[in-house]
Parts: sequence; structure tokens; C-alpha cells
Amino acid sequence: MTKKRLEIEITLQSSLMIGTDGESRFYNQTRDYIPGAALRGALAETLLSAKAGDNFEALFGESATEPIFDNLYPSRSGSQTYPLPLSARTCKYYPGFQSQEGEHHGVGDILIRQAVFEAMLDERVNLPCLYTPLCPECHSDVKRLGGYYEVVAGQYGRMTTPVRRISRTAIDRWRQTAAERLLYTLETVETHTKDRMPLLFRGAVLCSDDQGAVLEHWLPKVKGIGGGRSRGLGNVKVQVLSETDGSLPGLRERLEEFDAAVRTEWRFYQRVAGVEPLAADVRFFSLDLLAPAFLTHHGLPATRPALADLGLPLESVQLWRAISQQSMIGGWHMGGRLPRRTALATAMGSVFMYRTEGLSFGDLQAELQKLENQRLGEERARGFGQVLISSPIHYQAEVTL
Ligand SMILES: [Zn+2]
Repeated sequence: MTKKRLEIEITLQSSLMIGTDGESRFYNQTRDYIPGAALRGALAETLLSAKAGDNFEALFGESATEPIFDNLYPSRSGSQTYPLPLSARTCKYYPGFQSQEGEHHGVGDILIRQAVFEAMLDERVNLPCLYTPLCPECHSDVKRLGGYYEVVAGQYGRMTTPVRRISRTAIDRWRQTAAERLLYTLETVETHTKDRMPLLFRGAVLCSDDQGAVLEHWLPKVKGIGGGRSRGLGNVKVQVLSETDGSLPGLRERLEEFDAAVRTEWRFYQRVAGVEPLAADVRFFSLDLLAPAFLTHHGLPATRPALADLGLPLESVQLWRAISQQSMIGGWHMGGRLPRRTALATAMGSVFMYRTEGLSFGDLQAELQKLENQRLGEERARGFGQVLISSPIHYQAEVTL
């Protein structure tokens, strides 16, 4: 089936509250992104209340291959943004991308250097030095950096979601006064960033050509997303953008550049520690989770992608290094108005690095392109399991650590 990609932009017209899994009666947290499932649920509601049964069937019916609703991440410029990988590091004292206003010492990535260094340790190579990532400006320690990033005209920028916490007292319905011991806190996503720019959310929907026409008609009619709608929260404007997004190089270029960066790092150890050169038919690539993923192995929850799911010959590929986290994820079943089961997910930002033998870039490109298009694990239609192969942030970060 040909896959059509619709670029989606959401503008907030009131504050937004997207429930999390840590729901408590007195503390309502919000997510800092719009899950694909939330847009999907809001669209389904819109179709049902408009009694558009045929269109509902075309998208969600039993005979339909459901469209994939990617998560929507906060954006300043309207360009596509990505969660920072768990391998990203920044200065402990002046964190952030150098390109942004104020004093920031830059953001780098440790995946390739750390992986090659650990391979040397595994091989018991006699090393003249240890790899310790430090800030290139002030030589302080580095720390992880969360949030999202975009690349505009070759420059990295970071984006975080403005969240406001308000505490309120509940009102006693009988006495019309503040109820005792009933203070609750509400978190909402604000409509504007700290520097008063309107907050945008960017994502995509993947579908067939026929479904594309239905979605282009109905998505702009979605007017509300998330919780607290009776309190005026979650009013949105949904747009299907006409131009496509091209801030990332193509997969072939990413595969070649990532592999070249690993080889450059390897040659450093050839010089300083006399290790053997890499064989010519060895290639490396990385897999970043751009969304949480429900991974399974033989039907059981797993904390890493099953090698068989990569589509490459099993004897030619091995997991070389993983920087990953797990989280519990539940949700709300919009159709059934019931909570979904809570399950173990591998967190967004998790990074897996693989070593292959005897495969050409063409072989890798053919299979890994499918993986990027079709996603990984369960619940893909709801935005889970989106992956990016050999992300440029690993081989071309803003600063070298
Ligand atoms: Zn620094």
C-alpha cells in the first residue's frame, strides 16, 4: 500500500491538559507533548458526533488498515522537532545549545565515542586514556538534557513545553466554602512560550491515499483535545500542512555518515593503542525511539527491539550498545471510555546501536527504510514505536564531547 504522509500542525487556543499515567485525585499532571492517540481519539469523536459513519469506517473500520498517528511535539518555528536522545549531554553549569540566546556551552552526544571506548574495554585493549566526556568550553562535567530539538538551516535549537501549575481549593458543595483538606493542583500546557511566541505542536499522520482525502477533510474540524474541556481547556486549531518537511538528510546519507563517524573514532584507537582496523564489510547504525515503544519478544514484553524485527539476516547483526529507559504507560480508551491496561514501554529517546557484518549500505537501506515507515512494536496506530535510524545528532552534534 502506498503511504501518504500528512504533516500536522496544532495551535493552542486555550491551555491544554493531556493526562499522564501518574493520575492522582489531587495532582493532575500534563504530558509535554500531544500523543498520536489523543489526536486519533479526538478525530474519532468528531466523526461520531457528526454521524460520519462511512468516513469513520474508512479510517477505523475492521477492514481498514488504520492510519498511523504520530505523536506531536512542541515546536517554535513550525518545523518538525524530535525528542533529545538519552545519549545527549550538555554542560552541567551552562546547559543548552550554543545557538540559543544567553550563555550555553552546547549540546553533544556520547553514543559513538562511548560505544567504541567500551568495545576497547571489552577487548581488553591497553588504553593510554579513559573516555570522560567534559564540557568543551569550561571542562566541567556534563549531564543529560531532556526536551526536544529542531534543526533549522543547519542550526540546532531546543524546545521545551511551557507548563503552568495552579493550585486550587475544592469548593464544598453544601456550604459553598473551601472544602477542608481539598487542595488540588492542576498542570496545564500554556498557549505561548516564555518569550511570548505561540506554541505549536508538529507531527504527522501516515495513511493510504484514500484515507488521506478523508483526513484532510476532517482533521481541521477537530476543535478540542485532552482533558478539562468543560473548564475551557484544550481548544485547538488543527492544520494539515501542504509542504513536506525536509530537515533531515535521507536514510542513505545518514547510514554512511554514522558509519564513517564510528570508523573515525576507531582509527583514533588504532593510532593510540594499536588496535586492528575494522573489516571493510562491517557497518554500524543506530536506532532512536522518537516515541515510547511497546516492544515484545516471542509475545513477552521486552526492553530492546528483537533482532528479527529489524528485518536483517540474524547472523549478520548484533546489538552493540544500548542507552535506554523503561516506563509504565497506560492511557484512556476514547471509544470505550475506559482506562487502557498499563504496560511496560521502552522510553522515547532510548538509543540502540548495532554492528553488522557482510551487509552493504544498500542492504541496510532497504530493510531499515521499511522499519522507519512501519514502526516497531505494538500500538503503532496510536503513535508508539516511531524510530529514526542513524540520527545526525549522533555523528554531527553541535559540540564534540
Ligand atoms: Zn561548560
